[in-house]
Amino acid sequence: MARYTDASCRLCRREGEKLFLKGPRCFTEKCAIVKRAYAPGQHGQGRKQKLSNYGLQLREKQKVKRIYGVLERQFRKYFRIASKTKGVTGKVLLQLLERRLDNVIFRMGLAISRPQARQIVRHNMVFVNSKRVNIPSFLVDKDDVVSVKTKEKAAKKIKEIMDLSKDRTVPSWLEFDAASLSAKVIRLPEKTDIQQQIQEQLIVELYSK
Ligand code: SF4
Repeated sequence: MARYTDASCRLCRREGEKLFLKGPRCFTEKCAIVKRAYAPGQHGQGRKQKLSNYGLQLREKQKVKRIYGVLERQFRKYFRIASKTKGVTGKVLLQLLERRLDNVIFRMGLAISRPQARQIVRHNMVFVNSKRVNIPSFLVDKDDVVSVKTKEKAAKKIKEIMDLSKDRTVPSWLEFDAASLSAKVIRLPEKTDIQQQIQEQLIVELYSK
């Protein structure tokens, strides 16, 4: 499956804000945004340009794609689904992204970042309603039960990750049971459940041109 392979920190520096793509490191002084708060590349330190409306829309779309690790084609597909679904398009779009299985594993605190959560899913450790699912883009639904089952060695690793993630709160749309490493989707996610500031209307304007 295609995915971003560019160095994660460059993506944050390009967007000019922390996208939290690397787990605990993102909260330390080692964060590239703390050390080098300018765009990557030779001209990154040059004078900042004032972005046009189109530029703002484009950057917001790129930011959201990078947060969730989704490429353009799939992102457009989510937008198409959102625009045909009843409700506010931008909000439905964010809901679709939050419902991705890799995001759910991340939000459960079983991975330090979404890229790591994607790896856990692809390594056949994740079950939805007791059926193995290894597709990171799988969309969970209300009442689904997501669980992680693994051999002893990997379970130890996941416990270590949980320790590293203990300061992150599991969102209220997931009912998490740390003992069984499982979570029930008790409702679909809302925009208020998303940690990062996202102006989804900019993305809707961009794709509606
Ligand atoms: Fe982004 Fe994390 Fe790298 Fe900081 S450490 S630039 S938040 S990926």
